[in-house]
Amino acid sequence: MLRSQSDALFEEAKNFFPGGVNSPVRAFKSVHGSPLFITKGNGCRITDVDNNEYIDFCCSWGPLILGHNNEQVRNAIVDTVQHGTTFGTPTAIGNAIGKLILDNNKYIEKLRFVSSGTEAVMSAIRLARGYTKKNKIIKFEGCYHGHVDSLLVKAGSGLATFGESTSAGIPQSFASETLVVKLNDIQTLQQVMETHDDIAAIIIEPIPANNGLLLQDADYISGLRQLCDTHGVLLIFDEVISGFRVGFEGAAAHYQVKPDIITYGKIIGGGMPVGAYGGSAEIMSCIAPDGPVYQAGTLSANPVTLAAGLATLTQLLEPSFYSDLLNKTKYFTSLITTHIERSSYPMQIVTVGSIFWLAFSKERIKSSDQIDAASMDYFKKLHGLLLESGVYLGPSGYEVGFVSAAHQKSDLEQAAHIINSSIDTLF
Ligand SMILES: *Cc1c(COP(=O)(O)O)cnc(C)c1O
Repeated sequence: MLRSQSDALFEEAKNFFPGGVNSPVRAFKSVHGSPLFITKGNGCRITDVDNNEYIDFCCSWGPLILGHNNEQVRNAIVDTVQHGTTFGTPTAIGNAIGKLILDNNKYIEKLRFVSSGTEAVMSAIRLARGYTKKNKIIKFEGCYHGHVDSLLVKAGSGLATFGESTSAGIPQSFASETLVVKLNDIQTLQQVMETHDDIAAIIIEPIPANNGLLLQDADYISGLRQLCDTHGVLLIFDEVISGFRVGFEGAAAHYQVKPDIITYGKIIGGGMPVGAYGGSAEIMSCIAPDGPVYQAGTLSANPVTLAAGLATLTQLLEPSFYSDLLNKTKYFTSLITTHIERSSYPMQIVTVGSIFWLAFSKERIKSSDQIDAASMDYFKKLHGLLLESGVYLGPSGYEVGFVSAAHQKSDLEQAAHIINSSIDTLF
């Protein structure tokens, strides 16, 4: 496939933006390629500026559960935008989406909209600290929570330790307010909670999907709830990916575990910039103007975002929406799994709901240290082969893929066939 226009635009973009991009993973660094400049998306397909078409499994990194350019979402945006984009006031559409979400989610009683997942997480952490009047946060190695200062940290040396920042520009004093623990290790977590009495919250991606798909056991997730109750610590589920993805009530319902605060993003804004966080009425009453925890936003809950969100969530509530999407995803991944197993290739496809991840290992992977960095060479090669054949995955082997409602059976068969024959050339 010719990609000369994309290549030329990328060269030009490097004059304007650091690395030519406005978000680092878009630069294709981990697959050593050059990014596609996309001109349009329709259903499950995207078209680049050289007029190549791809079946898309990145889906803008998760928001597009209905696929690209969904008719109802597009109409809702267009209808709304005809009356203006933002007023800096409450709007009736805010009430409509608030009611729709809270009527159909037993895990939260009140919520607040913000403009990105990062902002939702940052606000949730401040809320947890304000509510508990404690300072430290526990996070898990391999979970991503946006680019919040105190969460861009990894474990230091030693068993369970104070975080070391993974980005320049973060004071050590901020990083040391975060304790980092391995996933799937309840004993270490328990020790950490017993030895520190200043812990405000544990934050976890209950379905960790930003560093591979590190599916946890149900008893581990319910164990977190018990430990938090024992120690008077809040449990925050970062459901920016899993929310509205594995079901309307997200991972909380998937595991039937009630966290104290849940963060959302991606799907809840129907493809527009968004974040949100929610919890019990009591905890949420700590937020300004009801309470002392300050949090605000000029463009928060702007009507265009909420219209896109409302039009999306309304479709998700149709009776068989999630079961249809799950069945489609199972069908798609089974076509690949059968092929992998027939040839005994050293890989597997990990999946939950409509999320999937290609892992170059046979073992069940529950923590990030089980991922062999060298195996990413396979992904790099696979990614290039798939682009050549018209299948688009996110440009990193640590990223998951998404099946959307717009992927039809024939699209999935076509994609599985391409993926299988590309895998054949890897080994
Ligand atoms: C995407 C993501 C974020 C960050 O959201 P942005 O909108 O990119 O700021 C936070 N947490 C999780 C789990 C995410 O997947």
